Amino acid sequence: MGMLARAGAELTPEAENADVIVVNTCSFIGTAQQESIDTILEMARHKSGGKAKRLVVAGCLVERFHDEIRKNIPEVDAVIGTGELENILAAAGIAQQDAPSPFNILKSDTVTSRAEGDHRKEQGRFARDAWDGAVGDLPRYLYDDHTPRILTTPRSSAYIKIAEGCDHPCTFCIIPQLRGQFRSRRFESVISEAERLAQSGVREITLIGQDTTCYGEDLGLKDGLPQLLEKLAGIEDLRWIRFLYAYPNKITGRLLETIAAHENICSYIDVPLQHASPSVLKRMKRGGGADIFLRTIEKMRREIPGVTLRSSFIVGFPGETEREFEELCTFVKEAEFDWMGAFGYSDQEGAAAFDQHEKLPAREIERRRKSLMSIQKKVSRAQKKSLVGREFDLLLEGPSSESDLLLEGRTPMHAPEIDGKVFVNDYPEGDDPQDGQFYRCRITAAHDYDLVASII
Ligand code: SF4
Repeated sequence: MGMLARAGAELTPEAENADVIVVNTCSFIGTAQQESIDTILEMARHKSGGKAKRLVVAGCLVERFHDEIRKNIPEVDAVIGTGELENILAAAGIAQQDAPSPFNILKSDTVTSRAEGDHRKEQGRFARDAWDGAVGDLPRYLYDDHTPRILTTPRSSAYIKIAEGCDHPCTFCIIPQLRGQFRSRRFESVISEAERLAQSGVREITLIGQDTTCYGEDLGLKDGLPQLLEKLAGIEDLRWIRFLYAYPNKITGRLLETIAAHENICSYIDVPLQHASPSVLKRMKRGGGADIFLRTIEKMRREIPGVTLRSSFIVGFPGETEREFEELCTFVKEAEFDWMGAFGYSDQEGAAAFDQHEKLPAREIERRRKSLMSIQKKVSRAQKKSLVGREFDLLLEGPSSESDLLLEGRTPMHAPEIDGKVFVNDYPEGDDPQDGQFYRCRITAAHDYDLVASII
């Protein structure tokens, strides 16, 4: 969007008003692929019976089904993989003679060590030859602080991607084939972007990447993420800094100390554990198990008092026995996560687990998913209840999507978009609370996942 706007395009979120429609797609599980395809077909109608002259498909679905999209959906004029962002101008039919190149290809000579070593490549981890219609080359694109950006988040909040790609060998996952090998953005580039965002009014930064805890390993940095967090914490205007998607065995003592030591780093850790049964985790090629994870959780809670923990799990992995599933359920009861998501296993060609036998029926996978979520619902209900009467900082986001009579916001316990909500139903008389501002609030009621608060 930044590149398009800089080249003179006017952006509109209304498809019916657009001359060029760009569908940015996801592709890592079946439901995401289906949603992407449905959206492309829906947008294609604006071309056949509406104003749109060009339809462009971008993102991960293109990495997976490059040729097939062109072949099967003739309304699509151009496709752009995750490594071809610069092509957006040509795809949209915009001349780019004067635009400076925003294209930043990672130079291989900057890589001193890789998060998981090069043997993943030797094992064929990044091979995409078997995909019918996919392009062979892995994406290598990585944006930097000079790449033009347009934020679509509320003005006080922004995501910063600090690394791209992944070298881990998880057998259910095709993200490394879609996003390429792990590569970190330069330290100074991230800081410079964060400073600029802070100057423009951003107060909350969420660091993302497929694996944020490996940040800097490919650049030869030790403790890359803690160092980055420390430096970001020094940017005065940033009130809330957090990172998502930690890898379990990369949560170091130094990382926990860094979070605990800085007031503007949220006491919040998101660590997708995927399962708790050692035998399933072994088949997932992730390692660990309930005992190790419980010790890590205990350490996180000891080192960062009041820490908010989020995790996610996959149920119905090939061969998951009733007993292995029970191990996961017992673990979720004991771990008492503040936030938890459960996903049904999605069989993806190109992932190692695709060739494993003993696939579970879809209905059984869904039964297990619901059963795990009902355990978490009870955990969540009790936890949210225990917050009633306590005070927190709240970032006000605006009118509630549930009712015009309510406002909505988040506390440091709530990452943007993914966690429950805080409904605000009361504030001091004469006050006029503003979106994007911070307020002190008191929790007055609790639901299973959401909270009700008064601004005080
Ligand atoms: S760490 Fe995450 S992105 Fe990387 S292979 Fe595993 S599940 Fe996929």
